[in-house]
Amino acid sequence: MDQDYIKKLEAGEELDKLVASEVMNMFPCDKWEYMSLGTAGGPVFIKKCKHTNCYPKQYIESIHGRIGGLPQFSSRPIYALTVWQKIRDTNEFCCLNINSDYSYIYRIELIKEDLTGKSKHEPCVIVEDEDFCVAICKAALLGMNIINQNK
Ligand SMILES: [Zn+2]
Repeated sequence: MDQDYIKKLEAGEELDKLVASEVMNMFPCDKWEYMSLGTAGGPVFIKKCKHTNCYPKQYIESIHGRIGGLPQFSSRPIYALTVWQKIRDTNEFCCLNINSDYSYIYRIELIKEDLTGKSKHEPCVIVEDEDFCVAICKAALLGMNIINQNK
């Protein structure tokens, strides 16, 4: 995947799809069952399969936002944080930094783990974006690129 292409992506389905497949290793699955728990719990999808990494293919728009379907990694922090955790769990980076200048941008830096001690401890991924979720998604895609290059 081209670095410049990734850096130009905006919040939305295209970025969410890339993150789902390239970072999260997730796929849509039609074996989820829709259920409404009424006003107390709202609508939910119940998993009826044995996959560990699928999401409900169907979705509905509700007052709680979209339920089911492709996780909205690039626009909902609760999903963006699962992406961040996934990148941490690769154990490929010794430093994962999120900096913010408070009012303008988020700057994310990933530094590759190097047990030889010879590296200069400089970031191999730098992403700047006004949006927190988008910054995380782009950094994760670029980070996975680097991991896959070194395989
Ligand atoms: Zn499934």
